[in-house]
Amino acid sequence: MTALESLRQETAARANFRCEYCLVREAVSFYRFHLEHIKSRKHGGMTASENLAYSCPECNAHKGSDVGTFTDDDERLVRFFNPRKDTWAEHFEIDDAGVYGITEIGKATEKILRFNDAERLIYRRKLMQLGLYP
Ligand SMILES: [Zn+2]
Repeated sequence: MTALESLRQETAARANFRCEYCLVREAVSFYRFHLEHIKSRKHGGMTASENLAYSCPECNAHKGSDVGTFTDDDERLVRFFNPRKDTWAEHFEIDDAGVYGITEIGKATEKILRFNDAERLIYRRKLMQLGLYP
């Protein structure tokens, strides 16, 4: 096994094979999940266990190399949720398949990772009906 593959397995197992942002399970996804750099490589983030999160392709694609965004009033820059340092339930709640930020960090993450795009809500609602989400 390559070093990257073993890092991938370690990260996946630590995340219980779920996206660490939206909590969708890899087992119910058509796509392989990604090793996501919490602090992107562009900003100096390393490919190391403490900087990696397990992410569904959608969360990873929307996050891109961003590390935060602005508050709704454009006054301040807020970092994203960090799965290695923050506790999910302190920043988000689930309501009828929607994933909502309940802190500034949670709201910034919800907005940019587009947790509640219409297709994603439909998908997670179906998973909920099947008992597969969250
Ligand atoms: Zn996700």
